[in-house]
Amino acid sequence: MQLRGIFIFTKFSVNKQTLMTKIFLSIFLFLSFLGYSQENLPLIPIPKQIEFVNEFFELDKSTVILSQDSNSFEALFLKETIKLKTGLDLPIKSTYTKGNSIQLSIQIPDTIGFDREKYELSISKKGVQLLSFSNQGLFYGIQTFLQFIPFQKSDKVKTQGVSISDSPKFKWRGMHLDVSRHFFSIDFIKKYIDYIAMYKMNTFHWHLTDDQGWRIEIKKYPKLTEIGAWRDGSMVGHYNEQRFDTLRYSGFYTQEEIKEVVKYAQQRHVTIVPEIEMPGHALAALASYPEFSCTGGPFEVAKGWGVFEDVFCPKDETFVFLENILSEVIDLFPSKYIHIGGDESPKVRWKNCAHCQSLIKKEGLKDEHELQSYFIQRIEKFVNTKGRKIMGWDEILEGGLAPNAAVMSWRGTEGGIAAAKQKHFVVMSPGSHCYFDHYQGDPKNEPLAFGGYTPIEKVYAFNPIPNELSIEEAVYILGAQANVWTEYIETSNHVEYMIMPRMAALSEVVWGTANASDYKNFENRLIDHLDFYEKMGINYSKAIYEVTTAVSSGKNGVEFILKAVNPSGIRFTTDGSQPTNKAMIYTSPISITKSCTIKAAYFENEKQKSNSIEQTFNINKSSGKKITLEHQPHENYGIGGSFTLVDGMKGNPSKFGRDWLGFSGKDVVATIDLNKIETISKIKLNVLKSKGSWIYYPKEIEFLHSEDGNRYTSIKKFSEVEIENLKGNIEGIFKNTQAKYIKIIAKNLGVIPDGNPGAGSKAWLFIDEISVE
Ligand SMILES: [Zn+2]
Repeated sequence: MQLRGIFIFTKFSVNKQTLMTKIFLSIFLFLSFLGYSQENLPLIPIPKQIEFVNEFFELDKSTVILSQDSNSFEALFLKETIKLKTGLDLPIKSTYTKGNSIQLSIQIPDTIGFDREKYELSISKKGVQLLSFSNQGLFYGIQTFLQFIPFQKSDKVKTQGVSISDSPKFKWRGMHLDVSRHFFSIDFIKKYIDYIAMYKMNTFHWHLTDDQGWRIEIKKYPKLTEIGAWRDGSMVGHYNEQRFDTLRYSGFYTQEEIKEVVKYAQQRHVTIVPEIEMPGHALAALASYPEFSCTGGPFEVAKGWGVFEDVFCPKDETFVFLENILSEVIDLFPSKYIHIGGDESPKVRWKNCAHCQSLIKKEGLKDEHELQSYFIQRIEKFVNTKGRKIMGWDEILEGGLAPNAAVMSWRGTEGGIAAAKQKHFVVMSPGSHCYFDHYQGDPKNEPLAFGGYTPIEKVYAFNPIPNELSIEEAVYILGAQANVWTEYIETSNHVEYMIMPRMAALSEVVWGTANASDYKNFENRLIDHLDFYEKMGINYSKAIYEVTTAVSSGKNGVEFILKAVNPSGIRFTTDGSQPTNKAMIYTSPISITKSCTIKAAYFENEKQKSNSIEQTFNINKSSGKKITLEHQPHENYGIGGSFTLVDGMKGNPSKFGRDWLGFSGKDVVATIDLNKIETISKIKLNVLKSKGSWIYYPKEIEFLHSEDGNRYTSIKKFSEVEIENLKGNIEGIFKNTQAKYIKIIAKNLGVIPDGNPGAGSKAWLFIDEISVE
């Protein structure tokens, strides 16, 4: 795969398919007035229809908020936010007064099945009129109006005259937060809900339980929080380092606190969907009540991250336990869906458990996957009796989907596609676009993250409806959400950094007005919007200013492409020195013909706005040459395609998302065409091991050479033991050999053997930079 033309943003960002996906957007632009054009309207998400009116409204201390219900939360919210932003303290009145007013009206719908989330907002010199069928619609109209008001103390605020008609495309517009790996205070949870509401999103997925901590008080089972909410230490640094501290770590929410948060969210029209993980990710529960495991324990609440083999045993007592927990959860949360997890549940304990094996026989199940399906279906039956529905991660498809279950597709979009085709509701949250625990900028300049690379333009290019679905099937896509797993996110400040501003991009995607082919329009609005983050003291990522890079193969080998908000602001050096405002200005792709280090940064008005980025190139006989792969890498770890392996850039082992190609269960068979016959005596490459992420060394690596591209002769072979001894830094030195073609075969470990993380699943094989000397 070659990255070329206008689709290049960075080596790992948008791919053609998502960019070309058609998203319909209707913005009626009649006049640009008061300095506003559609590009710098201070609105995110951009409404469905905007008409500019050639006048403006003046907000001052004589302005009145008119509301049929003067005690409505919406009117109070509007009043308080205007006060916070401008200092103006406006009265709320319920009877009509003449003059300067902001009028909130709810209309009785004349049809059933009306859109509660729709609103109409008109701003003119006479006043502001906001119309909706519900308080929710009013609330969204208020959020839009508030975005017109600058964050600045003032007696008089001029707002642009507009006429807006707006409603969202997707019903599920969600944000998730993992509070198990790290715990966050009630105050921050409320702030998080504020952010969700600010962007007119409507769902908060609260990941309350996991191996590393049980975070919700359950009255019937006090040990869940007495024991399960505590751990004797946490992992420090990246998983690969396997380092731990010994600090006691804890935190949980009382039922009173949860009631308070649920009410807070309801006022802001946000539904909280609680998640209680089962049958896997259950170690905190099993540490508290080991009798519900297969082995009886004892267990410890997990200190490290990863997937653990001890899971709930499907005994009758376990179901009673889980049903009692779910009953309390259901009483606390009024959401239609209860998320029951269902992901990453190893089968090794069930394989070796007499009870599990006899249950498989008794129920006529085929294997442990069907036993998982039995488990989920039994839980579903119970949840359905309470008038609720279950949702689970896409693994709940394995062994057969429960009859009424909805699926959250995280391992890509395939699970979501399969579920929609089976007429089950789906929420899309694929790792490729919706995992906000991934890096959003160059990992060198970012705080430690899980891995992966999901810059904001990639989030913006996401289309929740895959091309594979027909119009009838697409109806089952409820929407999308971003997931924030907190293994590497210890503080609320850091959570903000990971979601802002990516959440702004997602909000426009799920509102249905994102136009991926005009990312620049969004980016312009966002840059103005950043001022609001500054004023609010939100800790946001400045990766948007970062110089991003891409490589492609050009006439003379590797070409290095730099991009920034405004490319003419990029300055760079090739001698390893720091770029200053006197450094070379970037004008066109840099042709890399010899090994060097390039540093670049973005400047505005002579001032450096971004961190400087740095890229070292090791140019050798295979750099920039044609390379073909027999099997393609996984979509999440291979957007740069085969060229990644010969682009002169070596992958960083602790940040395996960016520079590596990842293959799930497949071998790497790569052929490099050196263009002419060369004398070679050394081949190097790197493979990764990170067991917790199910990444394993290949079981064999072989180098072959050929002069004609048909007959290949083996040069060197490395066994599993040799690969292990070399720690994945494979280097084969041999006597001078003539070759025009080089073939590299790295055999995937295949199915992960028992006793290892991810046992029974396909192993990942990660490889980077092949160099030939
Ligand atoms: Zn068992």
